[in-house]
Amino acid sequence: MRTTAVIVAAGSGTRFGRPKHRALLANIELWQRSVDAFVAAGTDQVVVVGDVPGGLPGGPRRRDSVAIGLAAVAPDTEWVLIHDAARPLVTAEVIARVVERSMVGDVDGVIPAVPVADTIKRVDGESVLETVDRSTLVSVQTPQAFRLSVLRDAHAADQLDATDDAAMVERLGGTVVQVMGDPMNFKITVPEDLVLADAHLRAAADRE
Ligand code: C5P
Repeated sequence: MRTTAVIVAAGSGTRFGRPKHRALLANIELWQRSVDAFVAAGTDQVVVVGDVPGGLPGGPRRRDSVAIGLAAVAPDTEWVLIHDAARPLVTAEVIARVVERSMVGDVDGVIPAVPVADTIKRVDGESVLETVDRSTLVSVQTPQAFRLSVLRDAHAADQLDATDDAAMVERLGGTVVQVMGDPMNFKITVPEDLVLADAHLRAAADRE
């Protein structure tokens, strides 16, 4: 099965305060960490979208950047893995779980997810309306894997925004399943997240 990773690294990074994908994490730029993880996992092709060396220019919304990446995917690709460069701690294990579930062949999409740890409430401004049953909720990560043809159809079907790629495939009626993600595969959003990621890498290096 031929797989391609599309790593999205565009966008303004407003909440980070500077171009976050060029930030160093243990001497390696954030975007490069994701590229290295997919190369190590044996992904056949890696396409990067964003203002980084070798990257394609991104689009205004995340889904636009994904579409730019999809246009560069080799035509004989069967499954495409879409990954946020803002998740530099993605592991070989998470990539393998997503790819192995894809290979079973009975679904259109596979996404890594972790249980929700906090109590979740629905609110309206200051007012707390209700407590949501968190036992049926998960927090979703990347890489998300899709049949290339299905994700292309989802992009062609509408122009609505989506916070992840699976939402677009779900709108089309595609079958999406979850596999276990990793709590450390969190998204770097604010500078404090980089401090956490750095501490995690140091602790891992000390254990070796
Ligand atoms: O904004 P957010 O943190 O949800 O972005 C998730 C990922 O999508 C990041 O890796 C970011 O670089 C990417 N993105 C993009 N193009 C955009 C917006 C976000 O590639 N226009």
